[in-house]
Amino acid sequence: MPWFIGYPRRDIPWYPIIDSVKCVGCGMCMNCGKKVYDWVEGKAVVARPYDCVVGCSTCATLCQRRAISFPGVGLVRAIYAKEKIWDKVKEKLQEEGKIPS
Ligand code: SF4
Ligand code: SF4
Repeated sequence: MPWFIGYPRRDIPWYPIIDSVKCVGCGMCMNCGKKVYDWVEGKAVVARPYDCVVGCSTCATLCQRRAISFPGVGLVRAIYAKEKIWDKVKEKLQEEGKIPS
């Protein structure tokens, strides 16, 4: 289940940004399970930003030179509050019988 429940993924500003000056081509970010990055001329580039899992920051955690950043969890949380996404996720889980109504 996508945790943003019908809200357009492209309207959620969560994706990695690489500081190409800091990047040393260690390749750790290529472990992304969603294949957000491509490897181009010895360095990673963000090829599919909106395939990034909202809220994930594993690549930034593992980046050797701390070259990866994100637009900000505050922006995402503001959207979740405004669009009542937390409420919708809860309703969906209740519908599926995963949590009590
Ligand atoms: S934050 Fe997670 S899903 Fe997004 S690019 Fe990095 S490892 Fe992949
Ligand atoms: S993990 Fe960081 S330093 Fe390594 S290739 Fe990716 S962006 Fe560059």
